[in-house]
Amino acid sequence: MAQFSQLATLAEELAGTASRLKKRAAISAALAQVQQQGTGEAGLFAQYLAGLPFAEADSRKLNAGGAMLSGLVKEVSGATDAELSAAYRRHGDLGAAAAELLQGTGNNRAQGSAGIGLREVEEAFAASATAKSTAARRQVLRDLLRKAAPLEAKYLLKLMLGDMRIGVKQALVEEAIAEAAGAAVPAVRNAVMLEADLAGAVARAFAGTLHEARMRLFHPLGFMLASPVESPEEAVERFASTKEAAEAADVALEEKEPKREADPSAALRDDNQKDESVPPELLHIEALVEDKYDGMRAQVHCGVEGRVAIYSRNREEITESYPELVEAFDNVPEPLILDGEILGWDLAAQRALPFAVLGTRIGRKKVTDVMRAQVPVVFMAFDLMFAAGELKLDLPLRSRRNQLEAVAERISGITRSPIEKSAGSLFAGEDPPVERLILSPSFVVESADDIDRVYREARERGNEGVMLKAMDSTYQPGRRGLLWMKLKRELATLDVVVTGCEFGHGKRAGLLSDYTFAVRGPGGELLNVGKAYSGLTDVEIGELTQWMKDHTLEDFGHFRTVEPLTVFEVAFNNIMRSERHASGFALRFPRIVRIRTDKPVEEIDTLERVEAIYQSQPDKAGA
Ligand code: AMP
Repeated sequence: MAQFSQLATLAEELAGTASRLKKRAAISAALAQVQQQGTGEAGLFAQYLAGLPFAEADSRKLNAGGAMLSGLVKEVSGATDAELSAAYRRHGDLGAAAAELLQGTGNNRAQGSAGIGLREVEEAFAASATAKSTAARRQVLRDLLRKAAPLEAKYLLKLMLGDMRIGVKQALVEEAIAEAAGAAVPAVRNAVMLEADLAGAVARAFAGTLHEARMRLFHPLGFMLASPVESPEEAVERFASTKEAAEAADVALEEKEPKREADPSAALRDDNQKDESVPPELLHIEALVEDKYDGMRAQVHCGVEGRVAIYSRNREEITESYPELVEAFDNVPEPLILDGEILGWDLAAQRALPFAVLGTRIGRKKVTDVMRAQVPVVFMAFDLMFAAGELKLDLPLRSRRNQLEAVAERISGITRSPIEKSAGSLFAGEDPPVERLILSPSFVVESADDIDRVYREARERGNEGVMLKAMDSTYQPGRRGLLWMKLKRELATLDVVVTGCEFGHGKRAGLLSDYTFAVRGPGGELLNVGKAYSGLTDVEIGELTQWMKDHTLEDFGHFRTVEPLTVFEVAFNNIMRSERHASGFALRFPRIVRIRTDKPVEEIDTLERVEAIYQSQPDKAGA
């Protein structure tokens, strides 16, 4: 029988080991040893070491929080409140404090206890989860702690609190399992993801049946996350840093500028050069853009015997807070996992309510009819994780999206529920039931201009910005990569005057669409600070082209200086020091917010303000 003391001793050793490799080797050796004992406890050993009282797929809870556990520590150790708080302050951790308080108290081992078996811990946890009263639960856990030596108590408490604090993440335990069983790490990880049962994966790894793991619903999968970008151009450049896009840029450059000897793939490797050599407007991307909704990210599991579970981004079950979604999704006849956002919904305007309104419902356990009526909620679905008996994560977004649309078509109409619960029975027919599943509108974009347009429209719909998702990307649970990007509100803007312009590329080849602009220096002189080509409509560019031609001061062919009379408001990501412009500064990823016909040139921003914004940046570039 494996003993909890084995685990506690290993945990203590791991807490004092910095090297990941050494940690992995130690865990792997311990697992192999427990496995050899032939009692089938290696799984439990791994699970407890990872700080999980129950498998993730297991919905049981210990129901023993910090308050109850510190009460038990006092009882078992005989410490006073003051002694416990002093010990807690010294260690910052209840388990370590308990170990100190139990030293020399004669708890357990001194009284000839045989130590605690892993199965005994398992039984106590099961009893705690199903205890009918708090008193009964306290009894079970008190008995367990009474038998524990100080080191065992330390790690029992950490385990019960769900945080071992030994610098061992579950990923490392998975690697150690693979090592101990001679299995492949991805196979172990995959089984854990599908079945959400680390102990089960250990059993499978040793039995050689990892490939037989099958997806189980009703445990949360990791959510895919997005990285922030500040402008459509930045998004395009980042997407383009993939190999395929580099090739696309290559073709685009050859087509547009056949004589130029450019090597765009080399330029793409170098961030700075890239800005110079491959204007974002020439980069071709293929991405889906959706509004970025300001609600609550959620995963809906449904379609198995009327069961519905909703999980939040931190993997907590939040089903109870949204009974109207449960009523809607419990009719779904096929097993599904959908990824999306719970939104407070303005039924009349068919748009999202501000987050603050939904906020009043977050965390509620009891939802009254008044709340349901005041803040109706919908589930805005944007991804399909499981359907037709298969996990869809490895499919490219384009296929997942197609399948999501097909699913939505099949089940919309089914996924309805009344505004108020009583309306379903007493006042049936007064208000029609609300469709709770909405498919997020999505648009295919190929350029920074496209993104810019959808972004403005999203803002007009009252949403925070847009999410950009590479069309070929697989769903990567728990990852914040560059395959999804979020583009939100702008930072500071500057009012500047246009001092020069040049002809654009591609469909803007005949148009003076790239503008150099300036701020005012201390002596009233104009000092160039940047150049922007995005943000204006085609009509605006057409009109400006004519205006620039009429107001040209010097014509250098491709570039011309113009009378400084046009004021732009420009946005940007940050300001760098740079020799490129006379102001000594350059704007990174500038874009034109609007033409300010309302602002006289005398009132444009000054070099002083540029300097102030530059100084206010926490991470000044080019300083
Ligand atoms: P952030 O919280 O700033 O990291 O942004 C990521 C969050 O945006 C996600 O967790 C979602 O809650 C939210 N979000 C809103 N709309 C979408 C969408 N269309 N696609 C993906 N995530 C979205």
